[in-house]
Amino acid sequence: MAPTALICGITGQDGALLAAHLLDKGYAVTGTSRDPARADLSRLAALGLESRVRLLAMDPEDAASVRATLGAAQPEEIYHLAAQSSVGRSFEQPASTVSGIVLGTLNVLEALRTDLPAARLFVAGSGECFGETGGEPASESTPLNPTSPYAVAKTAAYWLVRNYRETYGLFAATGLLFNHESLLRPTQFVTQKIIQGARRIGAEGGEPLRLGRLDIWRDWGWAPDYVDAMWRMLQQPAAGDFIIASGHSHSLRDFVAEAFACVGLDWQSHVVESAELYRPSDIIRSYANPEKARRELGWSASHGMREVVRMMSAGRPSGQ
Ligand code: NAP
Repeated sequence: MAPTALICGITGQDGALLAAHLLDKGYAVTGTSRDPARADLSRLAALGLESRVRLLAMDPEDAASVRATLGAAQPEEIYHLAAQSSVGRSFEQPASTVSGIVLGTLNVLEALRTDLPAARLFVAGSGECFGETGGEPASESTPLNPTSPYAVAKTAAYWLVRNYRETYGLFAATGLLFNHESLLRPTQFVTQKIIQGARRIGAEGGEPLRLGRLDIWRDWGWAPDYVDAMWRMLQQPAAGDFIIASGHSHSLRDFVAEAFACVGLDWQSHVVESAELYRPSDIIRSYANPEKARRELGWSASHGMREVVRMMSAGRPSGQ
């Protein structure tokens, strides 16, 4: 019998990449979208997966819907990825971001506790939960210090997962994921905006690319690596939380410079930093120490920022 997995939020970047990863490993994969009839299935289609996964409708904020979905799928492994995933948008839509992430995670934990206590649960947390790290890389023992509605919600979800694990003995784990990118990254995210902007200007010139703060530092990795880390977390003898990151941070300015270099341009002639695009609050330095994942999961990021930019810019992973 093939092992069974449920991916909540299968239509997003990570959901589609994780589906491909699990199918390769012989899993039977069921995935959810809030509305499969109207969902953006382009990422599943790009990977040729539309007919290889079963798609169910699930609203994470509706407890009955979550219970019914887990009941129909009977998964051995659950990957809860569904969320409004943009930090910037969380300042514009704080209530729906917070309720979706916190209530959604709670509903999955409750369904696990009552109906499927032997199943294993991965929940997508965020490196944003650490807030400003300064020059000291965050480890799993670093106190959380969220500074956006998105990060506050992800922090609450993290504590719910810990609470259910410790109180009820469930196999429930949070991946504290730092930024990870791929060709499937939606266009509202700054990395994809930069790649598309550089490509447009490289091909036809025109208006400069307007961006918010360029002096922020982030840890960028290659998303296919990160879904492998999710899977590894659920193969452990006991559940635990892990930082998943490359361990190297770069400034957004360097990311921009690399993207424009890929199309043969000097970014300084084509990019405008606009204070109007600044977020109400922004983390300046975000550093991660993924040593626990390396030691216990045997996982490390295979690509750094420059390779990520080059692969996104080329429209295909290097070496293919
Ligand atoms: P994504 O591409 O934005 O996909 C998000 C998924 O969640 C979609 O499948 C979408 O499905 C669903 N969704 C969107 N808004 C929702 C809402 N309000 N309520 C419930 N479901 C909603 O995100 P991703 O990059 O794959 O990220 C996956 C998870 O990892 C997310 O929880 C994200 O916060 C977390 N994460 C990602 C990164 C990163 O760098 N990518 C870093 C840290 C953490 P439907 O619209 O079909 O329902």
